Order: sequence, then structure tokens, then C-alpha cells
Amino acid sequence: MSAPQPNPQRSSVAIVGGGLAGLAAGSALAEAGYQVELFERRPYLGGRASSYELPGTAEVVDNCQHVLLGCCTNLIEFYRRLGVEQQIRWYDEITFILPGGRSSTLKPGALPPPFHAAPSFLDSSVLDLKDKLAIARAMMALVPKLPKDDGENFLSWLLRHGQPQQAINRFWMPVLVSALNEDLDRMSVRYAAQVFRESFLKSAEAGRMGVPSVPLSQLYGTAADYIEARGGKVHTRAAVDSVRADAEGVQLCVGGEDVRADYAILATPFNGVEKLLPDAPELGPLRDQLRNLTSSPITGIHLWFDREVTPLEHAVLLERTIQWMFQKSKILATRRDSAQGGSYLELVVSASKTLVEKSRAEIIEMAVMELGEFFPAAREAKLTKATVIKEVHATFSPAPGSDAFRPSHISPWPRLFLAGDWTATGWPSTMEGAVRSGYGAAEALSSGKFLVPDLPAKGLMRLFE
Ligand SMILES: Cc1cc2nc3c(=O)[nH]c(=O)nc-3n(C[C@H](O)[C@H](O)[C@H](O)COP(=O)(O)OP(=O)(O)OC[C@H]3O[C@@H](n4cnc5c(N)ncnc54)[C@H](O)[C@@H]3O)c2cc1C
Repeated sequence: MSAPQPNPQRSSVAIVGGGLAGLAAGSALAEAGYQVELFERRPYLGGRASSYELPGTAEVVDNCQHVLLGCCTNLIEFYRRLGVEQQIRWYDEITFILPGGRSSTLKPGALPPPFHAAPSFLDSSVLDLKDKLAIARAMMALVPKLPKDDGENFLSWLLRHGQPQQAINRFWMPVLVSALNEDLDRMSVRYAAQVFRESFLKSAEAGRMGVPSVPLSQLYGTAADYIEARGGKVHTRAAVDSVRADAEGVQLCVGGEDVRADYAILATPFNGVEKLLPDAPELGPLRDQLRNLTSSPITGIHLWFDREVTPLEHAVLLERTIQWMFQKSKILATRRDSAQGGSYLELVVSASKTLVEKSRAEIIEMAVMELGEFFPAAREAKLTKATVIKEVHATFSPAPGSDAFRPSHISPWPRLFLAGDWTATGWPSTMEGAVRSGYGAAEALSSGKFLVPDLPAKGLMRLFE
């Protein structure tokens, strides 16, 4: 089959999956004049970044707290496109806390990048001088260029660069395990280095942390309005059973009914692709690639207390199972807990392999006990409600060598394109990676330009772009 020439005014595009990849692709193509029809099997949009009402409670919860950084240029452009950029709260400071309550705050200062956070880093009371010198040396090794993935894992790199165990436990591990959702000994050096270069070293703006102030499906549900306002159609509760392509177009089976389109974009998670495609020989290499990708879990623990247990909106919790605390009652514009004297916290555990087999009750008991070590007021507070959300296949694992198994947006069938955080975007499994993949697939299908550039490096980092 030779590559057909699309005409946006007449061409129809079916998109399978209403996560960020599918929504970004659908929004870009609808704006460019394509007839977009998107199918999402769940009753709500957002995929792995979504929210829903917890059965038996009146609570709408995110499947997990999602954060972005200033360097997520395509995600931020997507928010602007949808008109929801005001619904992201931005923070310049991150607080690290030890059990017992000793804390320190990382924030940008007046020095030029890559030294903009150096004064607050040197002031840190959770690291000693030996840690700080070792971390600074290792950071400088990451400045000149992004290393290639040569199969080494990042723990081995850290040990090779003389990092003390305490520096690993209190700095490298908390930052990277939450950014990449993988253990240090299972993540590639390239991805770990990318996190530090893009967010810590490049500029203060690149490292700002953004947190949605509305539930995730509310944020991303606006993409359905955007697509439909441009003549498209978004179907929820619409599971696609199979996808086939021929020289004239693509055929989807949706709940037993056939749907034809000129093109399709498959924007499901990587482990859903195999079930949708027939066992055609030309698809064999794609199947083989995807079988080599693995996934890693994240656990979110949602706790409602009868009172406030900390004034902080968020914090990194060191040296325990729980890794991040987000005070949703302060972050979400829609909540009234504080006015009623209560508080709603979400605790996040990334790469949570040890929690997958544990019961909900065991996890809640552990979390409340650990929380009390950081915030003594939690010991006195009454827990009024709690739930645990385990996402066993939260993200693909950025393991050494994994890039070789991430396919491009172009499939062996000229009328079928691939999107999803697992495609070859160069980014780890993130909302930014998903939006990049959606825009990338839309570019591969059309002659449009949807991807936006990275933030420019500032200060001395301009020498190393
Ligand atoms: C617990 C958790 C925490 C995370 N934290 C962060 C974070 O803080 N920051 C960050 O940037 N990223 C985070 N991520 C990663 C981020 O959520 C994902 O990388 C991103 O949302 C993936 O988007 P996607 O569109 O590629 O895939 P998905 O969101 O998985 O979308 C695929 C969609 O396809 C649908 N689908 C599947 N099969 C079919 C079918 N047969 N028919 C129709 N529809 C189908 C699915 O229901 C789903 O909605 C987190 C992920 C999880 C799970």
C-alpha cells in the first residue's frame, strides 16, 4: 500500500482512546479541518490522567495526583488550546521533609542557570556537606550533554560518580523515582539525565511545578467540546474491538458495529495494541517491539481528616514508603474541606511494587502511621474516610535499552498511525510525552505542524544546548 495524500476538508480520522494522546491528536486534526471521531471505552475522558466519583461516597477523586513542569511545552500549549491554562497552579518551591519534621526548601535564586537553585541547595538541612559536594559534582557531569543509553542503569552511574548512600536516599531517589516511576537500578541513564537537565539545570522556568486545580477529567473533558465545536464527535463508553486497514481506508469494529474512516490513530496503552490488531505478518515486528516494553505501578492513598494536619500544600517525604504529600483541599479550587475544618490529602508512592499485593487496610494503616512521623498533628486527627487507588500498569518502565522498543507514529499500514506515551517521543511516560505523541501522530498523518519547541536554555546552560 502506498502512502495516500490526505485532504483535510474531506478526510475522516477515527481515534481509538480518549487519553491525552488521543485527545491531543483529535484536537489538532479537528482544528486543521479533519472530520474527527474519537472512541473511548470508559465513561469519562483523560485515560490514565482522569477522575471519577468514588462509589458509595460523594467524593470525586483523581486516579492519582498528576504534576507537570515548566518544561512540558506541548502539554502547556494543549492547555492553552483548550483554554484551561488558568486551571494549573504553579509552584516555584519544593519542600523536602525528614521523619521527625526537619525540612528544607529548594527554590530558584538570582544566579544564572545551571546555578539558579544552588543557594537553597547549599542551605539544605536534610543533606550534609559531603552529600552536597557529591551531588554538585555529579550534576556538573550531566551539564555538557545528554548521555546516550548504553545499557547502564542510573544507580550504577551514581555509584560510579561517588554518590554517598544518604545523597542517593534523600536527593536522587525522591526526585527520580517520582519523575520516572521506576527504581534507580531499573532506569536508564539517559532518562534520569534528561529529568535533571530539562527541569533542574536548564532554567528556573523549566523547573516550576504545575498542579491542576480541578479534577483531571474536568480538565481534559474540555477537549471533547473543542473537538465537537470543530465538527468532530467524541464517544465515551465506546470500546473498539478491532481495527483493520486496506488501500481505501480503515475499518473499526465498535461494540459490534462497523465504522469506516479514511485514517485511524491508535492511542491506547501499549499493552492494548495487540488485542486490537489482526495477526497480520507485516505487524509482527511492531508486536515484537511492544512485547519488550514493561510497566511500573503507582499507588495513591487518599485520606480525609477532620482537621488540618499541615499548612503545606505539598511536600516530598523522605526515607519512608510514602513519597509525596499533596493537600488536595488546598490545591483544588472546588473543595471546601478547610472551611469545614477538615482536610483531604493524597499521598503518592511511585514504583510501588511492594504495595501491589498489600490490602487496602494495610496500606492505609502504614500511610497514616508514616504521615504522623512527618506531621505530628496527623496522630491526633480523626481519619473520616480513606481509599487506595493502585494503578498497576501506571507507566511504561524507562529501563535501559527501552527506547529501542518504542515505535514511531507511522505503522506498517499507511492509513494507521500510532500515538501514546509509549511511542518514540524521547520523553518518559508523562502527560507531556502523551501530548507530544498525539501531536506527532497528527503531524505524521497530515501536513500540519502541531509540536511546539522546547524551552530555550538560559544562563550558562545556553553553552550546552
Ligand atoms: C497513577 C499515575 C500517576 C501519574 N502521574 C503522572 C504525573 O504526575 N505527571 C505526568 O506527567 N504523568 C503522570 N502519569 C502518566 C500519565 O498519566 C500518562 O503518561 C498519560 O496520561 C498517558 O496518556 P495516553 O493517552 O498515552 O494513554 P492513556 O491515558 O492510557 O489513554 C489511553 C486511552 O485508551 C482507552 N482505550 C484502551 N483500549 C480501548 C479500546 N479498545 N477502545 C476505546 N478506548 C480504549 C483507555 O480507556 C484510555 O482512556 C501518571 C500515570 C498514572 C497511572
